[in-house]
Amino acid sequence: MPAADERERELLQAALKVMENAYVLWGFKVGAAVMAEDGKIYEGCNVESWISGLRTCAERCAIDHAVLHGNHKIKKIAIVIEDKNVETTRPCGVCLQYIKDFSEDDAKVIMAKAKGGQILSESIETKTIEDLMPFSYEMKQKALDSYMQS
Ligand SMILES: [Zn+2]
Repeated sequence: MPAADERERELLQAALKVMENAYVLWGFKVGAAVMAEDGKIYEGCNVESWISGLRTCAERCAIDHAVLHGNHKIKKIAIVIEDKNVETTRPCGVCLQYIKDFSEDDAKVIMAKAKGGQILSESIETKTIEDLMPFSYEMKQKALDSYMQS
């Protein structure tokens, strides 16, 4: 896929900005920004807890932020990860499922690392959610309708 276009760079910058607000106890900072169907941008950062299972990833925080404002469908998500001995910029499996829940298969996932307050342009990678999560759990409307009628 081609490098990020202007709106995707805007999304990456929004994710970079909120990455600084991440609440990190032992991990690393992550910022995310989603572009909803209406073009609005909603950001999120990771929030850790001393009870590890309670932590929230930046991706889910950003999606929850969109939902809070009445947007249930996202077109794109940018994820920026602090460059700190982290091998991958890919969302975790839980977040992949969550992104899928609120998007269509062609939704773009734009991933990058950041260092010294800058996006590392050589690290930018774009995939579709279908590329990253081809076999997700799906409760399509049709299945839901038949469940409701039974
Ligand atoms: Zn996650």
